[in-house]
Amino acid sequence: MMPQTSHAPGRICPACDGFAQAVIATGTRLRDGSRHTIPVNCPTCRGLGIIVRPLATAARTA
Ligand SMILES: [Zn+2]
Repeated sequence: MMPQTSHAPGRICPACDGFAQAVIATGTRLRDGSRHTIPVNCPTCRGLGIIVRPLATAARTA
């Protein structure tokens, strides 16, 4: 089920397209044969899937 127009206010994070959390395999295999995975949050939106402020505005520090 994907929300289409009723997502949270703000912009969908361009780095992850809203998929703020991903599970990646570390390459290590556990003793039970399954792969070792760790959840990671998108560093751009910190796991929110959206960015409240546009990056262009936030990066303006000079
Ligand atoms: Zn993101």
